[in-house]
Amino acid sequence: MDILFIFLIGSIFGSFFGLIVDRIPLRKSIIFGRSHCDSCQQLLAYRDLIPIFSQISSGSHCRYCKSKIPYLYVFLEFSSALIFVLAWVNYLKPSQFLLIILSLILSAFDYRQHSFPFVIWFIFALSFILIFPLSPLFYFWLILAVLAEKFNLRVGSGDFLWFFTASFSLTFLNEMLLLQIACSLGIIYYLITKKRVEIAFIPFLTIAYLMLLFGHQILSP
Ligand SMILES: [Zn+2]
Repeated sequence: MDILFIFLIGSIFGSFFGLIVDRIPLRKSIIFGRSHCDSCQQLLAYRDLIPIFSQISSGSHCRYCKSKIPYLYVFLEFSSALIFVLAWVNYLKPSQFLLIILSLILSAFDYRQHSFPFVIWFIFALSFILIFPLSPLFYFWLILAVLAEKFNLRVGSGDFLWFFTASFSLTFLNEMLLLQIACSLGIIYYLITKKRVEIAFIPFLTIAYLMLLFGHQILSP
């Protein structure tokens, strides 16, 4: 019963993450304003707002205008629910839980908007700094992020900022291994899709992190 309740709470958070991804780039309030369909602008009823269930039961289409609803929302709701349950049963340490939640939000932004929501990263980074001890490794990633912002390093500063927060639950050796896995995944994706545009890299970093975590290769610093 407890787990079901935590799953529900996690899915509600996931739904909120979807709202953040949609509204922050448009500078809309994330607290005020009822949810509506982006296509027909119809305000959504409560039965349209039940995490996971509403989107699955409607076949991922708006009930009013039948336009397609991106699967990203149900993905965020389900993943978030799962992460909350894994943390509840102590499979995930607090630093791992926070990093995966942050990675989920950043990946959604990177995938959907090709943007890095600095404010959200900053709130999480501040939480990490207040809760967990700092090591010299953090300054290394921070300096790289500043350099990437000032000069064109062909890598976004957001990727280095992600590593900054990842340092709270990874050793440097782990991070180097993670980078190799993420780059390999990125190259495979590039070869398969043949996309000649900049690819969103944070989803690959996140997948690589999860591969290390579930492969029990994480060495805590
Ligand atoms: Zn609609």
